[in-house]
Amino acid sequence: MSETMHEECGIAAVYQLDHTSADPINVSQYIPGLLLDLQNRGQLSAGMTSYDPKHNLLLKTHKDVGTVDRVFRLFSSQKHRNLVRKYEGTVAIGHVRYATSGAEDRNFAQPFERIHGRKWKWFSIGFNGNLANFEELKAALVERGYHISYNTDTEVMMHHINKELSGELRSFKEIFASLAKSFDGAFNIVFLNARGELIAMRDPLGIKPLCYGIKNNLLFVASESVALARLGITDYQDLEPGSLLVATPHDGYRIERYSEVKRTAHCQFEWVYFANLASNLDGRSVFKARRLMGRLLAEMEDIPGGPDARVVPVPETAKVAGDGFGFKLGIPVIEGLVRNRYVGRTFIEGQSRQDVILRKFTPLVELLENKRIFLVDDSLVRSTTLSTIIELIRERGRAKEIHVRIACPSIIAPCFYGIDIPTVKELFVPRFWKPGQPLTHSKETLAEMAEAIGADSLKFLTIDRLSKAIGHSKEQLCTACIDTTYPTLIGEKRYQEQIKHTEVEADSTQEA
Ligand code: SF4
Repeated sequence: MSETMHEECGIAAVYQLDHTSADPINVSQYIPGLLLDLQNRGQLSAGMTSYDPKHNLLLKTHKDVGTVDRVFRLFSSQKHRNLVRKYEGTVAIGHVRYATSGAEDRNFAQPFERIHGRKWKWFSIGFNGNLANFEELKAALVERGYHISYNTDTEVMMHHINKELSGELRSFKEIFASLAKSFDGAFNIVFLNARGELIAMRDPLGIKPLCYGIKNNLLFVASESVALARLGITDYQDLEPGSLLVATPHDGYRIERYSEVKRTAHCQFEWVYFANLASNLDGRSVFKARRLMGRLLAEMEDIPGGPDARVVPVPETAKVAGDGFGFKLGIPVIEGLVRNRYVGRTFIEGQSRQDVILRKFTPLVELLENKRIFLVDDSLVRSTTLSTIIELIRERGRAKEIHVRIACPSIIAPCFYGIDIPTVKELFVPRFWKPGQPLTHSKETLAEMAEAIGADSLKFLTIDRLSKAIGHSKEQLCTACIDTTYPTLIGEKRYQEQIKHTEVEADSTQEA
């Protein structure tokens, strides 16, 4: 993707199935590897909590700001071994985080641990998702006398779990079913308490992926299957939406349904961009979905190829869709843009988004000069980045024509479920469409959009084709950001509030 958009988090867990055995395995050693495979879901902080029944401190949490290799000291075998030994345990949970606020603050890193004198009330959680009703949940806590220190939904979630754990002892199914009733949004959680009990929870809509698998008597949980496949686990399973995986020291593990599931709402963007290419989510390979997105996009093509036509995928996430597009049309796919992969997260004082793009991509004039380019990207969010790339290809690459092809429908609305999609007024396509009106990309509108980004033409994949490529019907997917159909009540409410706010702002600007 050429634009800046981020997944909010990734979670993982390891559990020694016979962890009361006389020969315990230190499962903490697996967490850094699992998190490295989930690093695409967050690079700002990483952490782990482990459970060790032999230690006075039953739960221990190590977390910090930084990438997994930094936080777990993977650059020094000795330092890494010491760390893993210090945090040894028979159960462990892990987390990687991306966020727009509190980026440099260790206190925002997860897991969040809450110490308590009673073992079932002493717990740690890692969270992937976003609560659309965060403000309402926070207000309810404040009213009950709680103090919110970090203003994050994980902290609010932690207090709500704590509230559910107070009073008489209830089953995990009852506790998490009650929690889920008060949450609106995407919420996959790994929970570990000081009795060595592990819970992995997937929300009833299954918005974010979560899977598990077993190898050598160890149970592994991860946001994406690539982390399990790397360990040689091929028969991993998706945790069904509305289900809990419960692992306890004396009963092994079981899957329990805690909520009725009327429909699913898997995030389509996981297949489009976020998930690792090697992952399999809810029964569908990310690689195959992206390749088919490219092929189906090619079926919509009405501009002829010819000897001077070339396909250039925007590196790196659009590569597979670009290959599929070129293969279907019989047009050579070239690496016309070389990406400096080390620029990614660097920050140089005062640099603009445009400067970052100029540092990140180099057009190869040897391949682009006098060519008609089909530039394939996986999404179009704000357009600033794509416009700069088009300018680069035209000016420095000396391409003759540039036809932009987006292997995803147009993004017209924000996400309230954990993906960092900007507000309506920052998005590109809503500038050409009035919310509430049917979204028709007429020839004229597409031509206007193409002109605005400096391209010769522009096309988007349709929603029907996207759903076909993913292999799930539209009703099984979350499509809120591409058609404004929010799968939760509060998500819909937030969107309406934002539209209203944007209209009021526009009116007051006109009046001024
Ligand atoms: S709104 Fe878009 S990005 Fe957010 S969960 Fe739904 S499909 Fe995914």
